[in-house]
Amino acid sequence: MRAAVLTGPGKIEVRDWPKPAIKDKSDVLLRVKTVGICGSDLHYFSEERVGDTIMHYPVVLGHECAAVVEETGRGVKHLKPGDRVAVEPAVSCGSCDQCRAGRPNTCRALSFLGHPKERSGALAEYVVMPGENCYPISSRMTFAQATLAEPLSIGLHAANLAGNLKGKTLAILGSGPIGLSVGLITLGEGAAAVYMTDKVEARVRVAAREAGAAWAGNPLEVDIVKEILDRAPGGLDVVFECCGQQEALDQAVELLKPGGTLLLVGIPLEGRISFDINRLRRRELRLQNVRRQNQCVGPALRMIEDGRIRVDFMATHTFPLEKAQKAFDTALHYRDGIIKALVTP
Ligand SMILES: [Zn+2]
Ligand SMILES: [Zn+2]
Repeated sequence: MRAAVLTGPGKIEVRDWPKPAIKDKSDVLLRVKTVGICGSDLHYFSEERVGDTIMHYPVVLGHECAAVVEETGRGVKHLKPGDRVAVEPAVSCGSCDQCRAGRPNTCRALSFLGHPKERSGALAEYVVMPGENCYPISSRMTFAQATLAEPLSIGLHAANLAGNLKGKTLAILGSGPIGLSVGLITLGEGAAAVYMTDKVEARVRVAAREAGAAWAGNPLEVDIVKEILDRAPGGLDVVFECCGQQEALDQAVELLKPGGTLLLVGIPLEGRISFDINRLRRRELRLQNVRRQNQCVGPALRMIEDGRIRVDFMATHTFPLEKAQKAFDTALHYRDGIIKALVTP
């Protein structure tokens, strides 16, 4: 089969690659239709690492995907060849302490689609996944929408961890697909006002126009802390940090009111970040890490399907597999107003 293979930093070659086969009776072979390029893929592509995961080449990336079932293992009952599906990329064991505690996202034996050391990714014509990771979608839903359910599910998980958001004021620092997803979900849950920031002007505009931000601004151009506190003088209840940058973490601490909650959604490139501990302590701020998502793909799909959440505006660019290099370059450099690059193998 053909696959977009990362062969070194910043270099993707489309070439022949071994076609995966069903090994376990619970598996399905999927014909990939659409793959979203995620910020974590861009880190792997350009930085050779994400957090403490170091790259090995060659590798096939891609974990946000929608597909058509090609073949099912004997044990798979809810799917048949030809079914259109959205894919949950995290494969958990179901039996460890974390899975039994309802935390499959921190499963002790987790393997993730398109993770360099775990499972070969979806930027290929075919992948094999457990049947239970595949959610049938209706004919009304597009493959692009089904793909965008994955980043939306991260927004949903982050919002769930933040608690009841009805009537709350909050900021989202970083308005890429994850930040935008958080915006859509939190406004859907009744947040009173959402302030959004990004260093990319096109994203600031999209945050205001499409995601419903009460105000959106660019920290390279304005003092975003002052602008937001002018509008919310007592400070914010919740801040979602969605870009993994030290300056945004500092802004978050300045923006929060006493007792407020900071959700760490973005992935910093550096192995360590720092906080002004006196501010954290005096304001008794709460820090909450967000590890991908926890069983939120199904609910995110239903939100898109029944029209409660509109994600189409994020699918700004689509590339054939042969143009995967261009897809990554365009997304990495935020060219052409790109929000999400989709690749269609
Ligand atoms: Zn992702
Ligand atoms: Zn487990």
